[in-house]
Amino acid sequence: MAKKSIQDVDLTGQVVLCRVDFNVPIKDGVISDDTRIRASLPTIQYLANTKLLLCSHLGRPEGAPDPKYTLAPCAERLSELLGKPVRFVDDCVGPKVAAAVAEMQVGDVLLLENVRFYPGETAKDKDQMRAFAEQLAAPAQAFVDDAFGSAAKKQASVTGVTEFLSPCVQGFLMEKEVSMLSRVYNAPQEGFVVVLGGAKVADKIDVIKSLLPRCEKMLIGGAMAWAFFRAKGMEIGESLCSDESVQLATEILNSDAELLSKLLLPVDVHMQNVAGDHATAFAPADGILPGWDAQDIGPETTKLYADIVRQARTVFWNGPMGHFEQKPFDTGTLGIAQAMGECPGFNVVGGGDSVAAVTQMDLADKMDHVSTGGGASLEFLASGSLVGVDVLDDK
Ligand code: ADP
Ligand code: MG
Repeated sequence: MAKKSIQDVDLTGQVVLCRVDFNVPIKDGVISDDTRIRASLPTIQYLANTKLLLCSHLGRPEGAPDPKYTLAPCAERLSELLGKPVRFVDDCVGPKVAAAVAEMQVGDVLLLENVRFYPGETAKDKDQMRAFAEQLAAPAQAFVDDAFGSAAKKQASVTGVTEFLSPCVQGFLMEKEVSMLSRVYNAPQEGFVVVLGGAKVADKIDVIKSLLPRCEKMLIGGAMAWAFFRAKGMEIGESLCSDESVQLATEILNSDAELLSKLLLPVDVHMQNVAGDHATAFAPADGILPGWDAQDIGPETTKLYADIVRQARTVFWNGPMGHFEQKPFDTGTLGIAQAMGECPGFNVVGGGDSVAAVTQMDLADKMDHVSTGGGASLEFLASGSLVGVDVLDDK
């Protein structure tokens, strides 16, 4: 069901609570990457006819104020980006907020302190979360959710406040993420290619189960592939792998033959002799030696996967093909990123490290969509929806 967006409602003059994702990397009070703040600008600018209260989490404080996780630097950065003052209140509920809101004029923007300074934000106890959500919603009338990265979890500032505010609509960033990932999720099976890599099968198991029946081919790379190798009884030497991943890979390998025929594993690897002289070598999939660590897919696999990706109508990619942070083990990931860039079909990259790889390789603008959400894009593709989106008003 399509959800209402800020363009479907008139919020003129109202006090609007807007959940953004300002969970940016901050070191010694300096923001090293403001991508997430920039990504929320279209929504914030569109809401210039309201009294706008922004709220977000930052990091993982333990449900109590912690100066390490203050959002104050984000107010400053946002103010620079908007070219107008952004008031910061060092609390997110209570009398300080009420007093600040009482002074607001239409067009003013106010950033509240980290919602995770209160245990109610992430409380497992429903009543505790509900009570905090009620306090957070108290000064506002309407709710706008533009925090795609946080939409997978039931939290006071994501799902809780919707009980107390109306309308509840999505911002531009949320709308874009959901529409792009819906297009992936609902892609016609023919020509739908999924590329999955990264470290652990456990992180991706739900997406494998969800997308394997929906796609034409699923290409497995990254350390995740070694779990499948071990599940098949192959030697993986010192390669990164956990027992949990092997167990989950075994479960997948027990799927019926038709499903399994869609799942491709690397045919060769790029490995390093970690027990000896640290030499590197290519080997066929069944040629990993004891004492060696397979850190990337090999050149034959890269070519095989890249050819499939280039011909796809829809590609979704999550998870690096190897230990790309360390040369020469970046070539598999680079090969996939380049093939995605050359593919005329619809292509989407999602996931923290895969997005970092594509950005680092200067190929992000060759993609149709690069998800800002990290884990949220995987959660969406695992089920086709997100709790934080489900609770917003239907169109
Ligand atoms: P994403 O954040 O895109 O979802 P993951 O977090 O699942 O990706 O995995 C990314 C990490 O996996 C990277 O740090 C990468 O170095 C590591 N990785 C991938 N393949 C290997 C490998 N063969 N050996 C060691 N590390 C690997
Ligand atoms: Mg990651």
